Amino acid sequence: MPERAVTLDVIAPVSGVVVPLAAVPDPVFARKMMGDGAAIDPTSAEVLAPVAGTVTQLHEAQHALAVATGDGVEVLVHVGLDTVALGGRGFTALVRKGARVERGQPLLRFDPEILAREARSLLVEVVVTSGARVESMEPARGTVKAGETALLRLALKDAAAAAAAAGEPVLSAPVALPNPAGLHARPAAVVAARAKQFVSDVRLVRGPSEVNAKSVVAIMGLSARRGEPVRVKAVGPDAETAAAELAKLLAEGAGEAPGEAPVPTETAPRLAEVRTAGRGEILGAPASPGLATGKVFQHRHGAFDVAERGGSAEEERARLDRAVREAARQIEALKQHAYDRQRAQILDVHLALLEDPGLVSSIDGLLAEGKSAAFACREAFAGHAAKLERLDNPVLRERAADVRDVGRRLLALLAGVEPAELLVPEGAVLVAEELTPSDMSGFDRRRPAAVCTARGGSTSHVAILARGMGIPAICGIDEAALALPDGIEVVVDGSRGVLRVSPEEGFVSQVRERIARQAAQREVDASTALAPGRTRDGHRVEVAANVRNAREAREAVAAGAEGVGLLRSEFLFEGRATAPSEEEQAASYVAVAEVLGKERPLVVRTLDVGGDKPLPYLPLPREENPFLGMRGIRVSLEHPEMFRAQLRAILRAAPVGNLHVMFPMVATLDEVRAAKEMLAEEQEAVTHSVKVGAMIEVPSAVVIAEVLARELDFFSIGTNDLTQYALAMDRNHPKLAGIADAMNPAVLRMIAMTVEGAHEHGKWVGVCGGIASDPVAVPVLVGLGVDELSVDVPAIPAVKAALARWSMEECAGLASELVRLRTTAEIRGVLAARASEEGEFQGRRIPA
Ligand code: PEP
Ligand code: MG
Repeated sequence: MPERAVTLDVIAPVSGVVVPLAAVPDPVFARKMMGDGAAIDPTSAEVLAPVAGTVTQLHEAQHALAVATGDGVEVLVHVGLDTVALGGRGFTALVRKGARVERGQPLLRFDPEILAREARSLLVEVVVTSGARVESMEPARGTVKAGETALLRLALKDAAAAAAAAGEPVLSAPVALPNPAGLHARPAAVVAARAKQFVSDVRLVRGPSEVNAKSVVAIMGLSARRGEPVRVKAVGPDAETAAAELAKLLAEGAGEAPGEAPVPTETAPRLAEVRTAGRGEILGAPASPGLATGKVFQHRHGAFDVAERGGSAEEERARLDRAVREAARQIEALKQHAYDRQRAQILDVHLALLEDPGLVSSIDGLLAEGKSAAFACREAFAGHAAKLERLDNPVLRERAADVRDVGRRLLALLAGVEPAELLVPEGAVLVAEELTPSDMSGFDRRRPAAVCTARGGSTSHVAILARGMGIPAICGIDEAALALPDGIEVVVDGSRGVLRVSPEEGFVSQVRERIARQAAQREVDASTALAPGRTRDGHRVEVAANVRNAREAREAVAAGAEGVGLLRSEFLFEGRATAPSEEEQAASYVAVAEVLGKERPLVVRTLDVGGDKPLPYLPLPREENPFLGMRGIRVSLEHPEMFRAQLRAILRAAPVGNLHVMFPMVATLDEVRAAKEMLAEEQEAVTHSVKVGAMIEVPSAVVIAEVLARELDFFSIGTNDLTQYALAMDRNHPKLAGIADAMNPAVLRMIAMTVEGAHEHGKWVGVCGGIASDPVAVPVLVGLGVDELSVDVPAIPAVKAALARWSMEECAGLASELVRLRTTAEIRGVLAARASEEGEFQGRRIPA
């Protein structure tokens, strides 16, 4: 019998101009992945119910909600693009999930100013997510009025027929799973996400087992393996489409391309075997030079004590909801900076786990019994993790770690526990998956002998901090290191990125002797480090320091720094919930300037965030490619108020010291001009001026160095980023860290070009990237014409000592020999040979 069509008007939830969905700059909407509909460029700021029905979804970030009519049509209203990253800021929900609403009833208010400033787009997307009920759809054109104009005119399939069908389960044909690792977390998350778009109850059936297809945990619990037949069973108004589409999705591998699946542990070659160099060595990226011996101390996350009984179920539910919202915000922030797709997908699984129906119903059951939110959470997550651990599929067993990880995040938030201070036994070798700058803040008092992290590379912030503290470090170390037992003796060579496990006693004593010799050499270097930096024949090269605050500036001066060549101002902005005020910033700059006095230069780099440097209160839009997106000066120009406040704060410190302001990540002359114009405007109100320079860390800036030099006072070459962008190698990539070496011939030639462009106009050039701290590189940089070296504080004496060993002519000879070489290996080879001729310690080999 042919179905009879009835109509339903979806009214405009906001006033404004209609934009076709295909024109929305986000493939999820433009390709109609969630369903068909239309978008509105809004002129009102209140979202009205587009249909009468029940609020079936209200996102924690309150930027999106859905209303379903009684006969199974669900309409999603999504405000803006990437507004999830605002974590609820700028939105006020006027209804709760589950509420019954009338057509035209206000559901949500948003602050257009916040969105205009911080979101990628203000467009409001209106999508019918239950497409199966829709025969055809006619979107309005032109302008629409909220609560009045029909935005979408739907012709529906006969509602009675659909309702009748709702009682009958629809069962798909069996699908043989193509996924090599079965339905593990990632495909499970894809299936659950798709299943949630249907109103019908959707289940996956394998043999006698049947699970909720909208729950990631339940799907993983099905433990379905490759080739096993799985059916989709759906009951509800859109059952037919749900069963057909999910069966197709399963047959296609649920978003997992061949070769992407994880290999079960039993059969996978152990990474340790692949990336260890034999003789019990575990490899990673050299991140901070130096040798160390010590016992392994693994940093793992601690357990939480929680009270079993809580307040009323409503109170506990409200606490839980807050924690879930915050956890989602944290995970979204991590996802924005995930450097590979797999990591981003894992974080998607974590987001899905936060609202997983299986976990939510376990938690709800415990809350109803009067348990506290924290207790319910701990039990539910631990129970589900334990279930996964009992499965016979090794890949699924490993996913228990994800469930535990999300549970731990929620528990920490519920317990209001700030991440505990990391207490490393004095002299231990700290091994961790990942360390945050706050983890490392206690190292001033109790310092480890060395640090090894599985994540990050030689220019990650962990590496920069370790170098600043003079702690040998290996980043991106093979995960085999995470399995080392606590207390086992190891030797770390931070210069080569090698950790040697259980070394023989004779070897350890050789290493200890070498460490003692280095310490003695450092003392000799330190005794002469207070003299100005000069080559053997008296040519002046200023040796300044890279610091983050006044305390480090004091240490730098005590170690012989002749100024601060790079104040990484973003560290004043990190680890805070709000931006520092102009006063706070000015006080920090004044404090550093006072340490240095009027003679020593202070180069304040303006905020350099984006890429690998997130800021909690400045949610940068999610980007496909954050290292090529909003970074450095681009962020400042995009947020002029914040930038101007920083410039005013720097100008306020100018009378106290010898202030220089430096713009990071400059790629074009336009950026320099725009930034200088703002500086000039802010400067009108004050009498003191500052010198203005730019970081040279983007190849385009190198090529137009001569052009930039006409309009700037100085350059400082950021070789960490310049190497990254010149070689197109992510500076945090553990596998590329060994090759992304600034002693690459292309980078050396770029340094030479920059110097040439600057000197043509009488401007000075510094190098503040990590290579300047390497004594081996010092004569090369000086020979290329660099006027200033800004280095990590512990490296100051060794850098000055290296300078004093070479005459200017020898430096120039070495540099011109090296720029003619063709490979990094050739360049490093020449440097190693020169070093051994001089008997100079290069820190490149553990004595064998
Ligand atoms: C650089 O890129 O070399 C640099 C000094 O800046 P940062 O490491 O802070 O990005
Ligand atoms: Mg940089």
